Amino acid sequence: MSQVRVRFAPSPTGFFHIGSARTALFNWLYARHTGGKFILRIEDTDKERNSEAFLKIILDSMHWLGMDWDEGPEIGGDFGPYFQSQRTELYRAKLKELADKGRAYEKDGAWWLRLEGARSTVFDDHLKKEIEKVEAAPMVLEDLVRGRVERAEDRDFVLFRSNGEPVFHFVNVVDDIEMKITHVIRGEDHLSNTSKHLEIFKAFGVTPPLYAHIPLILKTDGPGKMSKRDRGALIEEYQQRRYLPAAVRNYLCLLGWTPADGKEVMPIEEIVRQFEISAVHQSNARFDERKMSHVNAQTLRLLPPAEFAAVARPILTETGVVHADISDARLTEVLGIVQEKVVSVEHLPEFLAFFFTDKFNQDENALANLSKKGGDPVARVRELLPTLTAAAWEETALEAAFTAVGVTHGRKPTDYFAPIRYAISGQGGGAHLLGVLRVLGRDTTLARLQAFAA
Ligand code: GLU
Repeated sequence: MSQVRVRFAPSPTGFFHIGSARTALFNWLYARHTGGKFILRIEDTDKERNSEAFLKIILDSMHWLGMDWDEGPEIGGDFGPYFQSQRTELYRAKLKELADKGRAYEKDGAWWLRLEGARSTVFDDHLKKEIEKVEAAPMVLEDLVRGRVERAEDRDFVLFRSNGEPVFHFVNVVDDIEMKITHVIRGEDHLSNTSKHLEIFKAFGVTPPLYAHIPLILKTDGPGKMSKRDRGALIEEYQQRRYLPAAVRNYLCLLGWTPADGKEVMPIEEIVRQFEISAVHQSNARFDERKMSHVNAQTLRLLPPAEFAAVARPILTETGVVHADISDARLTEVLGIVQEKVVSVEHLPEFLAFFFTDKFNQDENALANLSKKGGDPVARVRELLPTLTAAAWEETALEAAFTAVGVTHGRKPTDYFAPIRYAISGQGGGAHLLGVLRVLGRDTTLARLQAFAA
């Protein structure tokens, strides 16, 4: 087969939704997997609803998610322009081509496609039945939608409106022809348009691309499709909440596709290698915010320390938790002990503020739970202080100090953990305590324990 050419063809009429991002991503993955080309085409013919601001959001989100395109806005390419609003001349010429062939005609000021073959008056029912059939069929690229929906559309339809504007179906197909698109991977919401598109290809005498309509994304609860208003629906939300773009991208890959070995969190290179469009699920995917957050946490944990520090630095300086001039070495040292525990970058400031200030928040729940484990927390801190003061400041020695004090007072070493943790951090949980003490340092630790004991 000739080189794969796929496209993502968004209309800049709204915020960038995870459904759109996933459609873009599946096209991108397919192009990268096959060594083909990924084209970004902006379907901005609807002047009323398009906006520059929405275009910017699309482009920013694509960049953020690391989906680079081979042709399209910002970079151009051999088949541009890649904005439909700049292709009006071409559409008129292509309409004329159909008119010259006798396949387009004017009626009431609009231009219509003349269908060849049988016509039916029960078009609507027929269409619905066909869609049901398509939904029930396995989704394999080579198993063309073509054969299954071809008969669904059997009435002439408009190509150019009486106001001189081309309709979506026409420009969509003309561009797929002109841009030599080989595979159309798009949302199932376009399934009902496909029969029209196939008729236009036929009228031009062009073999249509292969179609794969990917299932919808359902909201977390209930039967409905995820809408723009649902929490978690917009890519912007993840940017604001400082999710890792690699994690969001990884999660989007899992919305309708499962890696063969079941291992879900992995580098994008590995996903590109494994991704098969024929393995995309036929049933609808369900958005799961907890899973998204889990993928994000897993991805954070897998970051090399220097990258984790680079990701963490902005939020820590912006919130004033650290000074802008903190050294990479100190930042990496502190982050090193929390990396395996923290679930999101968003939580980092509250999670590790205590390393940098004595005025840290005190968690009331943690305080309430203190005496449940280990009895009186002040007593525990007082018992531990002398031994800890004498200990060498590294983890083995610190652990020995806890054990020794436990033996002396007939307690488990862990009876001391919660009181000490609360005294130095105000928290009820967190990174491994001995590591925290080591990184917090001898002087700060002892000063906080003394203050607590007093
Ligand atoms: N502009 C259409 C949309 O945003 C693209 C349809 C297609 O991919 O063919 O839904």
